[in-house]
Amino acid sequence: MEPIKYYSTNLNADDVTFSEALLKGLAPDKGLYMPREIPTFSKEEIKSFSQKKYYEIAFEVLNKFLVGQIREYELLELVKDAYDFSVPLEKGYENKYVMRLDHGPTASFKDFAARMMGRLMNYYIKKDKRKLLILTATSGDTGSAIANAFYGLDNIKVLVLFPDGEVTDRQRKQMTTLGENIQVISLKGKFDDCQALVKEAFADSDLDYLGLSSANSINIGRLIPQIVYYFYSFSRLRKPANQAGESEENDDVIFSVPSGNFGDMMGGVFAKHMGLPIKKFIISVNENDEFPNFLETGKYNKIEPSKNCLSSAMNVGHPSNLARLVALYGGVMDEKGEISKAPDMDKMRNEIYSKSISDLETKEMIHIAYDEHELILEPHGAVGWKGLMDYCEEFDVDMEQLCISLETAHPAKFPAEIIEILKFDPELPESLKGLEKKKEFFDNLDKNYLDFKNYLISNYK
Ligand SMILES: *Cc1c(COP(=O)(O)O)cnc(C)c1O
Repeated sequence: MEPIKYYSTNLNADDVTFSEALLKGLAPDKGLYMPREIPTFSKEEIKSFSQKKYYEIAFEVLNKFLVGQIREYELLELVKDAYDFSVPLEKGYENKYVMRLDHGPTASFKDFAARMMGRLMNYYIKKDKRKLLILTATSGDTGSAIANAFYGLDNIKVLVLFPDGEVTDRQRKQMTTLGENIQVISLKGKFDDCQALVKEAFADSDLDYLGLSSANSINIGRLIPQIVYYFYSFSRLRKPANQAGESEENDDVIFSVPSGNFGDMMGGVFAKHMGLPIKKFIISVNENDEFPNFLETGKYNKIEPSKNCLSSAMNVGHPSNLARLVALYGGVMDEKGEISKAPDMDKMRNEIYSKSISDLETKEMIHIAYDEHELILEPHGAVGWKGLMDYCEEFDVDMEQLCISLETAHPAKFPAEIIEILKFDPELPESLKGLEKKKEFFDNLDKNYLDFKNYLISNYK
């Protein structure tokens, strides 16, 4: 089979293969890479997923996109190594479920994408006998997710810069206790100073030999792994008769996705195009309501600056993956949010429902979900669940209808909110336990580019 080609959503760059798109991240015209064709599964194949483990379904999905780009047994090794944690499906009531994507090493759904992207990058780097140094400035969460995802890989090193005293103890320890290929700098400065040093290093041709790269969140290599859990949850929760193929009655699902940059939700949209019977997507957003307004009016106005809400990872006033969604519905949107060709809005409205949830509603939902259904949700997951509740009420959704809302972070990552609302301290997941006792490794540096450059040259030869 011919490998799938990837084009840029700005339509002004050459097509590339998967490995090129993965290692480049952004296209040269600042667009996002998208597959020219979306591979599909037959009903039989989707049925067979009921008998497969998570990593086996991940293999099937990724293999469709990577044919001719990696040997099957090698891909199988990578997915097995990446997905060694559970994906619980918790019942709320009737046929309404919460999918917990918070059991990975940093207790965030971002582990699913980052771990696979790291392994795929490592694979292609090794094949080309190249090396890579990932530079990341962090105010806390991104750095720990990247550090954990790339930890132990043999051809990639990671250097994380965090502002001295501006990350929580737990966040710092998630980065500094790893060691091996993960190095960390505590910078006497702010997050912006960290980011400025990283940017200057990228632009410095003296450092080209280091193979500097960023593990950018718009990378297509992060998006494809996010298709898998939609197939997985459906394979587990569709009725046994449907699993066995004896009945096709009401054999579909509604997903609610708490969304910020729309990477998570795009994984679901891809799953639908691959053949998963998704009846509706509910895109649940916080008070940054640019998308529900766009869906309603067809006019797009980004929100600048974005609003600060409780679900902080979703404080996005211009979702970076929106150009991909617009492209899938036949339109063209550039990186600034300018639409030069309108997408098919009627089709989009048919398939997608979107709702903005206020902070007050989010807090109330954390309370209600616990009182009525014993679900412990943190602010992001509560936005998703509230979007689903509102949809079910507005459209009088049938009791039998399978609905799945995504929980994207572990409640223990938001202890203050949970204690305030539910009056107890959520228990730490295994992955976050025992950090206090581990030894920390990091260096201290002033916010001075020459010092940083010398540090890079002397540490990475
Ligand atoms: C990143 C993040 C989101 C938003 O995901 P997108 O793919 O950007 O829409 C939601 N919840 C949590 C906890 C996150 O970290």
